[in-house]
Amino acid sequence: FRTRAYIYIKQFQNYLLFSESSRMSPGSVVVTGANRGIGLGLVQQLVKDKNIRYIIATARDVAKATELNIIKDPRLHVLPLAVTCDKSIDVFVSEVAEIVGADGLNLLVNNAGIAVKYDSKSEPNRAKITEQFDVNTTSVVILTQKLLPLLKQAASNVSGDDLSVSRVAVVTISSGLGSITENEIGSERFENLAYSMSKAAVNMFTKTFSIDMKDEHILAVNFCPGWVQTDMGGKQAVLTVEQSTSELMAAFNKLDNSHNGGYYNRDLTAIKF
Ligand code: NDP
Repeated sequence: FRTRAYIYIKQFQNYLLFSESSRMSPGSVVVTGANRGIGLGLVQQLVKDKNIRYIIATARDVAKATELNIIKDPRLHVLPLAVTCDKSIDVFVSEVAEIVGADGLNLLVNNAGIAVKYDSKSEPNRAKITEQFDVNTTSVVILTQKLLPLLKQAASNVSGDDLSVSRVAVVTISSGLGSITENEIGSERFENLAYSMSKAAVNMFTKTFSIDMKDEHILAVNFCPGWVQTDMGGKQAVLTVEQSTSELMAAFNKLDNSHNGGYYNRDLTAIKF
């Protein structure tokens, strides 16, 4: 009897574990800028989740995305995307539509970003400011809007008011440097002002989008990944890509209605806008 009871308990625990993880896993995910850094790390985390059906990872130059291309997983689709090019976005969106079909898209991770080094105090440089806004802000807005039909489609496949990444979410990888509240020492704190301004601006987009999409049941949040050892973060950064992205993924899977429109660290503590 004791052996049989043990088996039943184990089966029940497995059922709970499985139903919990499948409830929170997105069916399909897009990660932009996934050929290196945090985007690549996120894809490496996503392939571990067997409940995900489609993982769509983007690279500007797919042929050179060596680390992405060595991931052998039939669910992984590596697609070209230059986020600042509308033509590239249009082709990408139609390819995503073909992959996900009637299920729509559950999770968009706006990760691609740039930080162009320049001295904001003494170097009035229109091109460097504009370039950062284009990648970090404008492109997030345009790509999210162009993927909206696929996001709405996925949201409408679920009834009720619950929000989660398994229903639909737009997660934007912002930065703590985009916090206006935490800016107390001016440009001393910032490597470059335009980067921080572009992240503050994208935070505004996400917050606004979350309000506008309330009736569509699309969750939208901003995250700071921490200071991460990537080409952008540098070798002296405190977190490995693995540390940051494993914590980010855990946080994504915990998102619910209470987080909508917010700005978070990897442990889901709130950052002040
Ligand atoms: P990396 O510089 O390592 O990688 C940036 C990624 O964005 C690359 O895949 C790059 O592609 C892609 N990208 C840049 N421009 C474009 C474009 N025009 N079209 C498409 N893709 C583009 O950066 P991280 O991985 O460190 O940063 C990822 C995100 O995290 C960024 O949004 C960044 O602002 C944010 N962040 C990072 C922090 C850190 O400490 N690392 C801290 C806070 C926020 P390609 O290889 O073709 O250039």
